[in-house]
Amino acid sequence: MRRHVCLVYGTRPEAIKLAPVHAQLRTRCESFRTSVVVTAQHRELLDQMLSVFDIHPDVDLDIMQHKQSLAQVTCRALEALQETLHHLRPDIVLVQGDTTTVFAGALAAFYEKIAVGHVEAGLRSGKKFSPYPEEINRKMTGALADLHFAPTARAKEKLLAESINPEGIFVTGNTVIDALQMMAQSGRPVPEPTRKLLEGIGERLLLVTVHRRENQGVGFTQICSALERIVAEFPDVTLVWPLHPSPTVTETARQLLGNRERIVLTDPLDYFEFVPLMSRADLIITDSGGIQEEAAALSIPVLVTRDTTERPEGVDAGVARLVGVDADTIVENATELLGSASAYERMRRSACPYGDGHSAERICDALEYHFGFRDDRPADFEWQPAGEVG
Ligand code: UDP
Repeated sequence: MRRHVCLVYGTRPEAIKLAPVHAQLRTRCESFRTSVVVTAQHRELLDQMLSVFDIHPDVDLDIMQHKQSLAQVTCRALEALQETLHHLRPDIVLVQGDTTTVFAGALAAFYEKIAVGHVEAGLRSGKKFSPYPEEINRKMTGALADLHFAPTARAKEKLLAESINPEGIFVTGNTVIDALQMMAQSGRPVPEPTRKLLEGIGERLLLVTVHRRENQGVGFTQICSALERIVAEFPDVTLVWPLHPSPTVTETARQLLGNRERIVLTDPLDYFEFVPLMSRADLIITDSGGIQEEAAALSIPVLVTRDTTERPEGVDAGVARLVGVDADTIVENATELLGSASAYERMRRSACPYGDGHSAERICDALEYHFGFRDDRPADFEWQPAGEVG
């Protein structure tokens, strides 16, 4: 008998990272029937991605409201999701990552006694408020999940340290690498907005995205001041920042960096538009989790404007550096990389600890194993740091 897998998501990174899982599930229609329920926690960003991946949700809860508080998102999502799952009665709910939708989806499934699979499980900064509220969303989802798809061996260790049953943990790699490869293999030409952007930039491209809640306020002002100084110091560098639609982000960035030479502030780009831009970047400054992982796959050095990370693999592999939000530290690190070819090359090594493009397959193999469609437990994703390959 086919099993019903229900994907629940609500934001841009979840849509991107679940798209390869959805595509893979569709190729296994003898084992699975798939449905998609979206909360639309971030309406505009989600819609961009649904359109890119040509996904038409079975249920769209459309919960987003202007200036929504975390409690409001949680309550609206939880109530609507429990009712939806009560009627759909899937065999398992899959959630991805660390947003409020993820936690509410897992909790609603638990209330309905439906199994939960957590994609990108086990990432931990160990700091309650960093990232906020995502660290705790992810932990609480871990407590509710039956299957944990840990992207790396380190994430598995974190889950084991929390006494999660090892039987339910599968190391799969991160599906964002699959998504990136889907874009590369799509054969689509570079979209017009990106082509225009790329035409307008000079020798080197500095790509920036900053949006985390904990960076807003003083941190944000410091980051903007650092960016202005970096662009002033390197006349061959153009900075491009596709702004997150959060009013705080947009207003502050436009106020502090708008109408400056070689600084381009754009609306958010869809994934087809964003990936070619990111691939062309010489340096990335970001607080985004997904972009850290993608940059590692593309061998682009990343400065992460945070003090802690739940993704230490990139830092250990040497492709990412944690630089916090202090303006001088950000400028110092960017200056070193943009000013010294050897420092830059050392960091640009080809090392992607996050995945190999087969994560969605491993997740679906694990689901087949869980539901008894196959006897052999799928092998874990293993990453060998460069130089240690036998
Ligand atoms: N992204 C995109 N367009 C943009 C900015 C980012 O498609 O204008 C993609 C990016 O490639 C990555 C994901 O969105 O896959 C990251 O989303 P976000 O930074 O919102 O979330 P986080 O990764 O921090 O959870």
